[in-house]
Amino acid sequence: MEYLSKVSYNSTHEYVMKEGSILTKKYDVIVIGAGPGGMTAALYASRANLSVLMLDRGIYGGQMNNTAEVENYPGFKSILGPDLAKEMFESSTQFDAEYAYGNVEDVSVDDNGVKTIKTDSDTFETNALIIATGSQYKKLGVPGEQEYGGRGVSYCAVCDGAFFKNRDVVVVGGGDSAIEEGSYLSQLVKEVNVVHRRDKLRAQKILQDRAFENPKMKFTWDTVLTGIEGDGKKVTSVKTMNKKTGDEENISVDGVFIYVGLVPMTEPFQNLGITDEQGWIVTNENMATKIPGVFAIGDVRKKELRQITTAVGDGGIAGQGAYSYLETLKD
Ligand code: FAD
Ligand code: NAP
Repeated sequence: MEYLSKVSYNSTHEYVMKEGSILTKKYDVIVIGAGPGGMTAALYASRANLSVLMLDRGIYGGQMNNTAEVENYPGFKSILGPDLAKEMFESSTQFDAEYAYGNVEDVSVDDNGVKTIKTDSDTFETNALIIATGSQYKKLGVPGEQEYGGRGVSYCAVCDGAFFKNRDVVVVGGGDSAIEEGSYLSQLVKEVNVVHRRDKLRAQKILQDRAFENPKMKFTWDTVLTGIEGDGKKVTSVKTMNKKTGDEENISVDGVFIYVGLVPMTEPFQNLGITDEQGWIVTNENMATKIPGVFAIGDVRKKELRQITTAVGDGGIAGQGAYSYLETLKD
């Protein structure tokens, strides 16, 4: 069998016949999500001679694919997000970790500690599961947001910025994403109007300083968007309200970029009882959840700092943790 020829001596990578003759694929370690966290976990586990499968429902790289420029990942003064993703993918697969498409829909754990992972098309089994599904942008929830999605409303400056060359755009939010992606947009568009609900940004100081010095960025403080309007085909304006004065305004714009935070991608794991009330997965400092052999890393984890470096650090710990856990099963 083609797969078995790649298997190392201590590996459990094999096909198993289940009742009803469903073919289940078995690996020592399964990593769900091939962002920076997942890729690092796969590197560590495969380098420890374990059979490893990384499953992702999109292209490897995760949120790095939506990032214009990364300048806080050591080793690169500055690198485009998708380029960093490619570098990481090449190194994470050098010890035969496999990468496959799979939208994970359900995970269960049986009485023997075996984890079954169901995707939209396959079933897999493993003893060590590493969850690295990250997070995704939060919607603002105002009228017009859904209607004009992809027609002026965007959550990704790198993907859509070029459509707004020499036009006016609004960026909503005051965190790292809003300010960094707003700065990126300012290279393309006529003006970036950052609409923020408070009078202080949450973003890192270096990003704030650059944005305040940028002549193409302006700030509308203490203000929320109450609606996005258009001509039926595309966005033409936004409705705003100043929270302090109650003043309402209609601002003409061509694009609205929304960066109001993140939601964890944990729906397939809800029945495992490992999430907090907001849906983030709770782990200890070894990235272990309360279920033996289930680890969680990166943005999906309940933690303070969600960055590429911290996802990578988590990944190394969990990859090694999976190896140690599998060793205990041999006793
Ligand atoms: P992610 O990168 O989110 O990857 C998760 C992966 O899991 C995705 O590929 C997704 O497709 C997959 N997945 C999710 N659910 C499933 C499922 N059910 N089945 C299968 N696959 C699934 N950090 C920095 O350090 N520097 C920066 O400059 C920087 N810029 C940023 C700019 C923006 C706009 C954003 C949004 C974030 C930025 N960050 C930056 C943060 C950084 O990108 C994240 O902290 C990091 O990518 C988290 O890595 P991760 O591996 O935990 O998850
Ligand atoms: P975030 O830090 O949670 O910031 C969200 C912003 O949106 C906040 O300013 C918040 O306002 C505002 N907001 C939230 N809900 C809102 C609403 N309903 N209406 C209006 N405004 C609303 O999210 P993020 O900026 O996407 O960053 C997410 C993570 O990625 C962070 O950990 C960040 O450090 C990381 N990241 C890092 C970099 C980098 O290192 N260069 C770049 C991008 C992202 P308040 O401030 O009032 O709460």
